[in-house]
Amino acid sequence: VIILAIETSCDETSVAVVKDGNEVLSNIISSQIETHRAFGGVVPEVASRKHVEVMTLVIEEAMSAANVTPEDLTAIAVTQGPGLVGALLVGVVAAKSLALAWNKPLIGTHHIAGHIYANRLVAELQYPCMTLVVSGGHTELVHMEQEGRFNIVGRTRDDAVGEAYDKVARALGFPYPGGPHVDRLAREAEEAVTLPRVWLEPDSYDFSFSGLKSAVLNVVNQSKMKGLTPDVAGIARGFQESVVEVLVEKAVRAVRANSAKQLLLCGGVAANKGLREALTARCEKEGIELIVPPPVYCTDNAAMIGAAAYVKWKHEGGIPLDMVADPGFSLEKWSVPTY
Ligand code: ATP
Ligand code: MG
Ligand code: FE
Repeated sequence: VIILAIETSCDETSVAVVKDGNEVLSNIISSQIETHRAFGGVVPEVASRKHVEVMTLVIEEAMSAANVTPEDLTAIAVTQGPGLVGALLVGVVAAKSLALAWNKPLIGTHHIAGHIYANRLVAELQYPCMTLVVSGGHTELVHMEQEGRFNIVGRTRDDAVGEAYDKVARALGFPYPGGPHVDRLAREAEEAVTLPRVWLEPDSYDFSFSGLKSAVLNVVNQSKMKGLTPDVAGIARGFQESVVEVLVEKAVRAVRANSAKQLLLCGGVAANKGLREALTARCEKEGIELIVPPPVYCTDNAAMIGAAAYVKWKHEGGIPLDMVADPGFSLEKWSVPTY
């Protein structure tokens, strides 16, 4: 089964060719970060236009890098949602056009299922498994009883981790996307500025990061009012320690409570070195098998969409060409049927 996958949910235009959901034949990523940096974040209208500009070229590159012709393809997959509606539309229209022109089935794919199944590109998954999803727009603990079935056991009640990273980075004077800057600074700092940890109710798997973000803004503003330069590195380290401690603790607890055989990590913030190290150390100590994709499969890419699409295809096949982009697409509803 060879799937051509298209991802345009945010600011990366990506096309991949993936064999059997785990062998990446090509994965071309055209990032718009430079364009959006001047605005301090992703401008939706600009993102859509950029996707249109490069879409055809990225498809051609992915096909030639994989050394395949349209006849070799089994199906066309595309991110149907969630994401920016204008950005999603560009990918969906491109995918429908290819499906029609090449007479191939179409697979509508969930973006977060893609992030989760990025793990299938690096390891064989065993069910039930637990996934810690940490991305720009999502922070969730997702339980999978069987292949392709998703059950969200915990989620953020306010900011997503990536969003908190980006806002904190901006307050500390770093450009978009700020996550990698905070990660680097945190590791350079000699000492951490003490910041709160938000655990919520004792048995809750939910998260909250807006209080922590506000605490950072307060520390920065207080230094400035006193005419002092804020301890940027110390704040970054304190912020990262708080985030990582809560994420690791809740993820491990969720693994135990659901008798999960593996813990999977995914989403853009999974590229964070501090988080990867802390989770690796803790899982080693607890005897939990941890799977972490390489950074290129953590941030947005189409290979992960090809991986998730393969699972969907295996259980359900394609969907009609009148499918529509859905900015609020539900992960749980995208699940394959039970047997
Ligand atoms: P979603 O997947 O929820 O729709 P998205 O696709 O915009 O959101 P991703 O591309 O998965 O998000 O992740 C982008 C986020 O990852 C940004 O917030 C960015 O700051 C963060 N990020 C990337 N690298 C790191 C890092 N090393 N440390 C912390 N955060 C990081
Ligand atoms: Mg992005
Ligand atoms: Fe994403």
